[in-house]
Formats: sequence, C-alpha cells, structure tokens
Amino acid sequence: MKSDVKYDLLIIGGGISACVFASKYLKNNITKKIGLIEIGRGLGGRSSTRISKKYKGWKLNHGSPNFNISNSNNNLLLKRYIDELLENKYIKIDDSDIFFLNEDSHLETIKKSEFTCGVNYLSLDSMSELSKKIIESNNLREKVDFFFETLIVDMKFNDKEWILTSKNGDKFKSKYLICSTNLLLHKRSLKILNVNQIPLRKAIPINNDKKIDLLLNFLEEQTFIPRLTFLIYTHENYSYKDYYSKKTKVFLFKK
Ligand SMILES: Cc1cc2nc3c(=O)[nH]c(=O)nc-3n(C[C@H](O)[C@H](O)[C@H](O)COP(=O)(O)OP(=O)(O)OC[C@H]3O[C@@H](n4cnc5c(N)ncnc54)[C@H](O)[C@@H]3O)c2cc1C
Repeated sequence: MKSDVKYDLLIIGGGISACVFASKYLKNNITKKIGLIEIGRGLGGRSSTRISKKYKGWKLNHGSPNFNISNSNNNLLLKRYIDELLENKYIKIDDSDIFFLNEDSHLETIKKSEFTCGVNYLSLDSMSELSKKIIESNNLREKVDFFFETLIVDMKFNDKEWILTSKNGDKFKSKYLICSTNLLLHKRSLKILNVNQIPLRKAIPINNDKKIDLLLNFLEEQTFIPRLTFLIYTHENYSYKDYYSKKTKVFLFKK
C-alpha cells in the first residue's frame, strides 16, 4: 500500500506530455514530491517504442513515429521548448521522404496531411527514449517516484486532497493531480475500467465545479481517429540501407 506517502503532485500517465510537464514543473519546484503512475512498463505512452530482444538494433515506434508542429511561431513557449530539445540533440528536423498512396497503392500528388503540416521532428533515439531523456534532463529523474504497471481505476477528492486507487487496491494521495490521459474522464472508461461512473465525475459530482462540468461535457463529444502501424517485411537478403540513405521512409495512405 502506498497510502503512507503523500505527494504534492500526482501525475497519471507516463506519456510524452506527462514527461514534459514533470520536467518543467520540477525545474521550478525542486522541493516538491511528485509521483507518476503509469499502467505500461515504461515511459512514452502513445509515443513509445518496442525493442526486440531477438534482433539486435530492431526498434519499432509503434505509436507516433515523429511529431509535427504547425504553429510554434505563434507560440513562444512552445518554440523555446522545441529549440531547447534541438539544442540538447534530443530531436532533429525530420527529413524523411513522405509518400502518399491512394487506395490502389499508387503515388498521389497531394502532399499535405494533418500529420505533415508545419515542421516535422524526429527523436534522435527512439520515441520512448525521448520521453525518458525529457524527464531525466537536469537530473530530475531522482525527484520522481515512478509506479509502473499500475492502473488507476478510482479517484476521490475531498476538498483538500486527491485519493487515487489502483486496480490492486494501492492508494495514492496528493494535493494536486495532473491527469495526462482522458481515460478517467471519458465514457470509454466505463467499459475499459469496468466501472459504473466516469472516475472524474464520481470524484467531483455535477454542479460542484463549472470548469470540470465543461470539460466533461466537451469530452462527451470526443471520438477518436483510428491509426494503424504497419510492419513491412522484406526478403531476408534485402538491405534497406544499401538502397536508401535516409533512416526513415513514411508512407501515408489515403484511407
Ligand atoms: C499509431 C499512432 C500514430 C500516431 N501518429 C502521430 C503522428 O504522426 N503525429 C502526431 O502528432 N501524433 C501522432 N499520434 C498521436 C500521439 O502519439 C499522441 O498524441 C501523443 O503520444 C499523446 O501523448 P500524451 O502524453 O498526451 O498521452 P499518452 O501517450 O496517451 O499518455 C497517457 C498515458 O497514460 C497511461 N494511462 C492511461 N490511463 C491510465 C490509468 N487509468 N492509470 C495509469 N496509467 C494510465 C497510458 O498508458 C499512457 O501511457 C499517433 C498515435 C498512434 C497510436
């Protein structure tokens, strides 16, 4: 049970946004005690990487392979942060070739999509490594207690503190809470977590907080865009490196 430890801040989720938040927060609040709770085995969330034990060097970013930012010029904070990541050599500008394929797998001439507008960036390592490096920057890793393979299924708020309960029954307490996933805020939680009320709604009943009501109403409308990752197998004698100098090749399918 973790009930004896009380955190200043608990973060649910260990994806890239949680890592960015934790590293920035700690830079200015070095004495605060942070706990990060993640159901996966490591950091990265939907921007993470699978590494093969069998084939040395084989890595697959099975979520987002890169990221694109279309409006950093109008957002100084974001621009500064991207510059910091570039300077630290955590990311680089993505110069991969992008191929747009139509339904018949023929090349399309249209070269725009929501995933390619603006500037595209790649992690210099894998995407999981990027999250790790972000949270480890400025030697901050020691400052965070990580709880992996821990699924939060219930949350309570009693005006002073948050009490989170994991599937195993562990309790986590904190003054502040960052929820970097919408799983506990969206109706999909009912089925996935097998609960009868959206956890955040249960913690903060309707009409108690106008902002929370607005947020939950907004999320009620939210659907999702399904994305697929394809593994392309080649003939065993085929050497990709001999034919192609850039590391990554991106194929975008019309549908
Ligand atoms: C196949 C694929 C391709 C993509 N391609 C692109 C792209 O080309 N460009 C782009 O910009 N974006 C892309 N995305 C989207 C991008 O990956 C996400 O927007 C981004 O990674 C979200 O990061 P996040 O930290 O906000 O959330 P997440 O990465 O989703 O992090 C939330 C974390 O919370 C954890 N979690 C959830 N609920 C609980 C709970 N109850 N208890 C404990 N832990 C919990 C999850 O395991 C997860 O690790 C893609 C996504 C996928 C899946």
